[in-house]
Amino acid sequence: ETETKDYVINDEVIKKIFKVRSEFSHKGTYGKAVIIGGSYGKMGAAVLSTRAALKAGAGLTFTVAPKCGYEILQTSDPEAMFIEGGEDYIESFNVEETAVCGIGPGLGTHENTAKGLLKFLKNYTKPLILDADALNIISQNYESIQLIPEKSIITPHPKEFERLFGKTENSFERTELAKNKSREHQIYIVLKDHHTQIITPEGEVFYNITGNSGLAKGGSGDILTGIITSLLAQQYSEQEAAVLGVWFHGKAAEFAAEKYSKEAMLPSDVINEFGNVFSELN
Ligand code: AMP
Ligand code: MG
Repeated sequence: ETETKDYVINDEVIKKIFKVRSEFSHKGTYGKAVIIGGSYGKMGAAVLSTRAALKAGAGLTFTVAPKCGYEILQTSDPEAMFIEGGEDYIESFNVEETAVCGIGPGLGTHENTAKGLLKFLKNYTKPLILDADALNIISQNYESIQLIPEKSIITPHPKEFERLFGKTENSFERTELAKNKSREHQIYIVLKDHHTQIITPEGEVFYNITGNSGLAKGGSGDILTGIITSLLAQQYSEQEAAVLGVWFHGKAAEFAAEKYSKEAMLPSDVINEFGNVFSELN
């Protein structure tokens, strides 16, 4: 057993990671984020994830979604570009090599979507973010976990984690299992919960303490995927994008709760607080 280190994500950790935006820049400086998700009846997840990527600062943001989401996405997120990936669900995952992909929000688990995803992963080698139904598809095809590119970030909630790696007795055991899996597959695991943990392939654990129960609502995780994808597109390292992203998400939720209450705040309200979080960082 190698020695491992645990950290709490505090202001000091965040200050070291955050990069001030340069005045001498253009949209190319801040990268391309691509959200791949949405299916008939679950287009909102793609809308929220895309908007979070836009508002977290990416230079260009794209959404790969099925045709049935075309008007919804172009109307809700006019700053993003639409790429058609199927009719009612995504079948083809074609993306530019220079872009950073966040895959999963609202994706659905249709067998053609699953086939398309696994085919895509077989040929893809750059780190990407996998969430939600992308993780559920991988859970249903056990060996496909090997296809996840090294240094990728996966963001399972406890149920998705269990589907991927099996049941554990308590949160201590879950963290230990996550450490083993992070090392084995050389991926970052964002173990989402009341206090989210980021586990690195080196066995480090970063504990997040921002956020609140106002996030316990459908759509919250989709926003986190958008944030992390956006930060990775902006040239933060995988570890930095995961740590800053999780902290940032929680911080925005704190601003939203102040304004609307934990009960009434919605994931879209959380996105609208990103500006306040950036103001604090800058
Ligand atoms: P998902 O289940 O994919 O929508 O993700 C939920 C998101 O909200 C994750 O980032 C969780 O960490 C966060 N979240 C959910 N419930 C709570 C809670 N009670 N306190 C803090 N964060 C939470
Ligand atoms: Mg989710």
